[in-house]
Amino acid sequence: MLPNKYKAVTHEASINKILDAKKKLGKKVFILAHHYQRDEIVEIADAVGDSLKLSKIAAATKSKYIIFCGVHFMAETADIINKGKKVVILPDINAGCPMADMAEIEQVEKTWMQIDNKDFIPVTYINSKAQVKAFCGKNNGYICTSSNADKILHHLFKNNKKVFFLPDKNLGINTANKLGLSKSEIKKKLFLWDGYCPVHMLFKTEQVEKIKQADPEVNILVHPEVPPQVAAKADFMGSTEYIIDTVQKAKKGTKWAIATEVHLVARIARKNPDKHIQLLSSPVCMCSMMDRTSPQHVAYVMESLLQNKIINRIKVEKNTARLANLAIKRMLQIS
Ligand code: SF4
Repeated sequence: MLPNKYKAVTHEASINKILDAKKKLGKKVFILAHHYQRDEIVEIADAVGDSLKLSKIAAATKSKYIIFCGVHFMAETADIINKGKKVVILPDINAGCPMADMAEIEQVEKTWMQIDNKDFIPVTYINSKAQVKAFCGKNNGYICTSSNADKILHHLFKNNKKVFFLPDKNLGINTANKLGLSKSEIKKKLFLWDGYCPVHMLFKTEQVEKIKQADPEVNILVHPEVPPQVAAKADFMGSTEYIIDTVQKAKKGTKWAIATEVHLVARIARKNPDKHIQLLSSPVCMCSMMDRTSPQHVAYVMESLLQNKIINRIKVEKNTARLANLAIKRMLQIS
């Protein structure tokens, strides 16, 4: 919980506290921010990226303390990759991911036992809990991200394996469609967990139709967590880093309607004033969990470090981390 004395501090004063603490802590501390964080958090961060990129940066930095401005599974992943050698701190301990919460290890193990699992390999999206990643590690499985899910699934299908895919059903179907699988092949080759991202689920085909009818020149660019019907109508689909890159490399004057989290879309629009950029949906698709981390939370954990107090450390149990790392290593061998 954020102490009352921090709740009363303004955003501006909190930013000053963060900058002051950063100066005093020097190289001991490194602040990471996910692309979906608020602007004021992105502005004070040492690095910005998607979850895997940030975990790799966390592993490469020499800093002892990693302040991970994101959600719980991301801080866990950073701790797993770092093998507990650095102190990973989540400024707001209540910042979870609803999609990751849709696959609890007890349900996953029960379902795995219920299916005829001998031909299946489990693959979990990085947006999942550490125990689910460890389950994949233990069962010859893999982690995947939205940028390499196609490579992982292609590799497994090529080796005549079936895939137990979790937790994001949309990512599973959109990837299978990208690989050219028919509906019956998807049914045969994939066991799909029924999880989803509540933010990306808000995008609808009617929004695509409305925009295209008004102006057929608008390019529809979507994240693979959107529903398959929306992905089917899109011109481009890819991970967060792909979305940023595609718009950056696009020609001056081109038009884009983007289906992903609103903070990121607004930032892309500001960085590309020579292009016309809009969010695909009219109701604002914001991740309320990503938005939980405020400058006050960051100021609190950083000023605590100045007093040698570690608040909200995310530490994954040793064996869970070891098994999860096996699944990450297998992923990295392929992608
Ligand atoms: Fe989870 Fe979706 Fe929020 Fe990402 S945007 S943290 S997947 S709920």
